[in-house]
Amino acid sequence: MNTLFAPFLAYIKQFNSRLVGLCMLFLIAGFLTACDVMAQPDQDSLSTEFETMRIQENHPDYTVDISYPQTLNRKIDHKVSEFISQRLVRFKDDLLETALSETQAGDNQYTLNARIAYHSDGVLAIRISESARIGPSEALEVVHTFNFNRYTGEDIALDNLFPHQADYLQVLSALSYKELIEDPRLSGVDAAMLWEGTQPFSQNFSTFLFENTTLTLIFNSGQVAPAGYGAISIHLQLSDLSQQLAYNAKAFEANYVSIYPIFPVVLEGVASNESAYFKPVEPVKVELKAGEKPIALTFDDGPHPKFTLQVAKVLDAYKIKGTFFVIGKRARAYPQVLEQVAAQGHSIGNHTWSHPQLTKLSTLKVQEQVDMTQRTVERITGKAPKYLRVPYGRFNQDILTWANMPLIQWSVDPEDWKSRDAQNIAGHIIEHTKSGDIILLHDIHSATVEALPVIIEQLQKQGFVFVTVDQLIDLKKGQVYYKGPPKAAKPLD
Ligand code: ZN
Repeated sequence: MNTLFAPFLAYIKQFNSRLVGLCMLFLIAGFLTACDVMAQPDQDSLSTEFETMRIQENHPDYTVDISYPQTLNRKIDHKVSEFISQRLVRFKDDLLETALSETQAGDNQYTLNARIAYHSDGVLAIRISESARIGPSEALEVVHTFNFNRYTGEDIALDNLFPHQADYLQVLSALSYKELIEDPRLSGVDAAMLWEGTQPFSQNFSTFLFENTTLTLIFNSGQVAPAGYGAISIHLQLSDLSQQLAYNAKAFEANYVSIYPIFPVVLEGVASNESAYFKPVEPVKVELKAGEKPIALTFDDGPHPKFTLQVAKVLDAYKIKGTFFVIGKRARAYPQVLEQVAAQGHSIGNHTWSHPQLTKLSTLKVQEQVDMTQRTVERITGKAPKYLRVPYGRFNQDILTWANMPLIQWSVDPEDWKSRDAQNIAGHIIEHTKSGDIILLHDIHSATVEALPVIIEQLQKQGFVFVTVDQLIDLKKGQVYYKGPPKAAKPLD
């Protein structure tokens, strides 16, 4: 930090105190930004699956407006926020080097918008539009892209897409030149400039988005056309490309999925064989006092990057534990959410890999659905689930045999997924719950989160005690449970 700013400190000594003050503010703002202290979740963008973080600074001499997504892959999030911090520091450095007398308040603006252009099980592509304006000159607009392997958090380089094709740049160069020269948007542009900007050098093809069946190449402002044209994107269909390049989009995706069927969490500063996960919390034996009625709150279909954490927060506030039946695929997408919920001592159950109706699948597929989820949850939390909840409650004797686990159904169902109404949900549960009940909820809706405090407070008043499913019932393999004691576990009929 000191070395980085030393030249500037020397530089500003020659100037007036306003500049010194401004510089100090830059230093502080830069530092805070680097530490992410100023980033707050943006409440306006709740509709997307990914939460957006926002950094805004309204300084008398400049404004900053940055938004970027939280992917919940620590490594990816770290890389993106690190990149943004560096770009912001660069803007502030440039601003310092410009005499302030030449700029007007409001002239100096920095905006950056990072958004997820594409995401799948294996790939996450981020497009970053940056605009930096200092003084009366035109804003400098640059598009940056990131393409990540979603599991490892590693960058996917363009040559990763064409591993067996040494001349892929020549092919891309020829294709882009052909596409651009015929592009009506660029009809007035000198062909020599188009040719120059599409020469087969890696820096000419460093900005790209891997979007499933499309490879989007972005030529930044000034690269293939004069700056006034802005960034120019072309979309190459990989199916077309595959005739010329040894490449197949599906194979690429499948490759990633099969290499990394389970999210290997890579944390900095943690030796790979050392557990980066939480130390499993052993279930606490619940001693019921006279008159207390045990019940279990169960939450299906998560982890959800937003609502699962909110549910866990409410449960924590009332110091009670719940049971989360997670979908393996979602656990892999949001390992940190699952890790946190498990670390708080909640019980984690298996709700299959992708939520199919198991009775429609082959035995092999059923096993895959259950096993992949077991392994994923174990990798993330350190503990494999001890019970299964089948999607839609549908099962048969084969499934029960193959799953080789207790199967947990439910006895109170407010249909929170249907009504999405907090009052209805709470009302139904409060009216119908009896001792030993297993209550079915879904931690993927805001109404469910909203209903929770009312449910907990009202039922606690009536003498109910909230426990996890394994605390409620003495579970046995191959048994199906709808309720816990006092009514004995109901065997399969
Ligand atoms: Zn479900």
